[in-house]
Parts: sequence; C-alpha cells; structure tokens
Amino acid sequence: MKYFDYAATTPPYPDVVRTMTEIMETQFGNASSIHGYGERADQLLRRARTGCAAAIGVKADEIVFTSGATESNNLAIKGAALRYSSRGKHIITTATEHASVYESVLQLQQWGWDVTFIPVDSTGVVTAEQVVKAVRSDTVLVSLMHVNNETGAIHPVEEIGNLLKKNAPRVLFHVDGVQGFGKVHVAPAKWKADLYSLSAHKVRGPKGAGLLYVRSGVELTPLLSGGSQEHGLRAGTENTALIVGMAKAMRIATERQIDFSSRIRLLRDRVMKTIASIPELELNSTQDGAPHIVHFSYPAMKAEVALHTLEQFGCTVSTQSACSSRSAEPSRVLLAMGRDVACASGGLRISFGDEHTEEDAAMLEKALHQMVAQLRPLERR
Ligand code: PLP
Repeated sequence: MKYFDYAATTPPYPDVVRTMTEIMETQFGNASSIHGYGERADQLLRRARTGCAAAIGVKADEIVFTSGATESNNLAIKGAALRYSSRGKHIITTATEHASVYESVLQLQQWGWDVTFIPVDSTGVVTAEQVVKAVRSDTVLVSLMHVNNETGAIHPVEEIGNLLKKNAPRVLFHVDGVQGFGKVHVAPAKWKADLYSLSAHKVRGPKGAGLLYVRSGVELTPLLSGGSQEHGLRAGTENTALIVGMAKAMRIATERQIDFSSRIRLLRDRVMKTIASIPELELNSTQDGAPHIVHFSYPAMKAEVALHTLEQFGCTVSTQSACSSRSAEPSRVLLAMGRDVACASGGLRISFGDEHTEEDAAMLEKALHQMVAQLRPLERR
C-alpha cells in the first residue's frame, strides 16, 4: 500500500523519533524549574526556539510554541480579536480557510464580531485588491492561508501583506502557513505578516507540536489561564521532546525545500496530466498551485467509493481534508470555487511527500485508470 496523503499528516523521520525518545527518557525536566533538570530542559527549548525561528527567518523571541496549528490559529485569531477589540470588531478572511480558522471566526461572529468572507475565484485564490477593498475603519485582522489544504491553491500572501500594510498599517495580518512550509519558499516577515501558524506533523515532525510567530510589538490575549510560559501567551508546561522534534523536522524541511519542490512538482505534473486525460475526472488544482497537492473530482461517483477503490488498487488518498473527511457534506472549498454539488461531493486529494518516486507516480496513474474502469458501470447519471 502506498500512502499519498502527506497533506493530512506525514510519518515522522526516524531520526526525529530517536531524538524525542532520548529526550523523554533522559531530559524529562520541567523547563520552568530552576534546578539542573529544569535548566537542561530550558536549554533544549532555547535551542529549538532559535532553530524554528531561523527556519522561517524571524527572531527566537517571536516564537510561541503550541500544541499544533489548530491552537496557533485559535490563538492568533481570537487572541488578536480580544486584545484589539477597542479598535473595532471586524475580521476579514476567505471562504476557503481550514476549519481551525473558519470555526474560530464563526465563534467570534457569535460573540459579536463581524466577519467578511472574501470570495475566491475558480482557482481558489483571492487578490490583494479584494482584501484591501474589504478593509473598514473597524477592521482589526486579516486571516488567510498561504496554501490551501484541499487544492494546493496559493494565495499571493506577499502582495496581500504589502498592499494591506500600505493602505491599513494598523490591521493585523495572520497567515496560516501549515501547507506551505517546506513545500514553497516562505518569508513571513517579508510578507509583513504579524502572525504566522505552523504545524510539525505536516513536515515529518511529531503530532501535537506547532508554533505561532508573533511579530515583536504585537500583543495577544492568551486563551489559556495558568503559568507564564511562552512569554505569557500559552500557559502550560512545554513538551520539550515534541518541540525539539519539531525544530529538527523544520530544519530538515528548510534545507530540502528547493530540492523537494522541484522533484515533487514533476511527479505532481505527470499525475495531473493523467487525470486531465481521463474524461470522467475533473481537475481542481492548477499548475501554479503547491507542488505536493493534486485535487480532482469524480462527479459521477461518491468520493468515498472512489477512495476505497483506489485503496483496493494499492493507493491511499484522501477525501477533502483529514479533519472534514468524515463529514458527508460537499467540500466547502470546492463550493466556494464555484463547483457544483456533484463535483464538490466527489473530491479526492492526492498529496505527495519527500519519499515518493517516479515508480510511485506510475503506480498511482495505473490505479486511477483501474478505478475509473471499475466504477464506470456504477456511475450515477
Ligand atoms: N491549517 C491548515 C491549512 C491545515 O492543513 C491544518 C491541518 O490539517 C491545520 C491548520 C491544523 O493543524 P494541526 O493538525 O496541527 O492542528
């Protein structure tokens, strides 16, 4: 069985697992303790913080460790909204955000904030002009993703950040960077992002570790009450082992990004070409999207039937994103891109990782042909 669901999660590098195991066994101190055990844990955290910061080109004291990007996104959005509510209660986002952003803004809506969802075009992106046009005098935050987790569509974050800060310097800019980091070049400071979320398990690090870059000078209302860890922004004893594992995985991802991107893009392109050649299938990803994601629909078939058929032919792919794939609802992302309900209900995502080869791509292409041949007689008309 071949795994083509790297956008959902990735297998941690064996070296990352070894390092984390060693830390759990030998460096179990609480980084806040002042004795030797605590100091050693604190030193590991400091080194990890410096490493994570270097991987995204920011300062170490701008990194807040979290339990993953869901928490980072919640902290960025709700933390900024609560802290700056005296400036206004309007938030701008897009119609295709990950559930951790989408549900966070919906919750704020219930608490009295006003939210503008900027519509995406048929390829799934918004323009900088659309974002700036949506800004009002009471806008406090723009939150959007770099790379879409279902389709791989890339928002022009650098253009958005620059135009936003030129026109509305007081409006905070949050980027959910989860699917872009390690796959395409990232530079949150250059994009003028104030807040930037990452998750370790998408780049062969551990699950349960993530970070939020908080630009110096930006304040947030913490969501957890407790100790003063993480500059007072995230109470709770830091998980030294997972954080060191994340730093290691992020360093490897950064070192290999250019190579990964050019090699994996070739695999993606050949699979895209195969999908385009099968009349029953419709591509939802475009050539200029992220190098590791191909999304397509089989409108005449339920996505889960297609998924299990591909599995029968040895290939594991995904329906929608992992966190929505158990929902029977059509994809919110595809509907926002203007696809009809059949297309939005029959969506499948293939996502590549660094271990994939030409042989794997060939196997996938064969499985796609086999799947359609098997399901053709069962198509709904
Ligand atoms: N944002 C995006 C774009 C994602 O793809 C994901 C994970 O699927 C998340 C946020 C949430 O990350 P985590 O699993 O670390 O909570």
